[in-house]
Amino acid sequence: MTEHLLKILIVGDGNVGKSSFVHRYVSGQFNKTYKMTVGVDFSVKLLHWSETEKVRLQLWDIAGQERFISMNRIYYKGAVGCVVMFDVTNSSSFLSCRHWKQDLDNKAMLPSGDSIPCILLANKCDLAQRVVSADSIKEFSKANGFKTWMETSVKENKNIGEAMRPTSI
Ligand code: GDP
Repeated sequence: MTEHLLKILIVGDGNVGKSSFVHRYVSGQFNKTYKMTVGVDFSVKLLHWSETEKVRLQLWDIAGQERFISMNRIYYKGAVGCVVMFDVTNSSSFLSCRHWKQDLDNKAMLPSGDSIPCILLANKCDLAQRVVSADSIKEFSKANGFKTWMETSVKENKNIGEAMRPTSI
């Protein structure tokens, strides 16, 4: 059995749902009180890829950051994909995505020298008090070089597995 280790980053402002997303994806649960430890931490999900191959997904979540901060290169090192997340009820978390993506493009590279593929996730789409429209997300995603974007609700388990499919990132 061959095992591959893939490092995936989850970035975005505080409170957009990153820890909940990782927890939901890894354990299938959503608890309102769940919180990862402050600082950088990662969770692991083991995927049975084929008869002979296993994939160990290492999901790196920056916890405890309220606003965009420029990350240390070490954090980005070796990552093969990234999730940039914002909250559709919080426009400043959407604006921060530009900084998150620029920081990634400046510091995170594949061995080939290309920038790492990123997906943009518009979380909390279950909430009625939405302020960021689908049209503006679509435009932003295209203009900023995201591979794709999706609306998610960690709470209602919408598009969580879909976002993490290899074809998405
Ligand atoms: P983080 O700081 O980005 O890691 O955000 P958290 O995962 O701690 O989530 C912040 C808050 O948003 C928590 O109270 C979560 O329960 C809540 N939350 C996360 N995802 C969703 C969602 O899809 N819908 C709703 N309504 N609340 C969510």
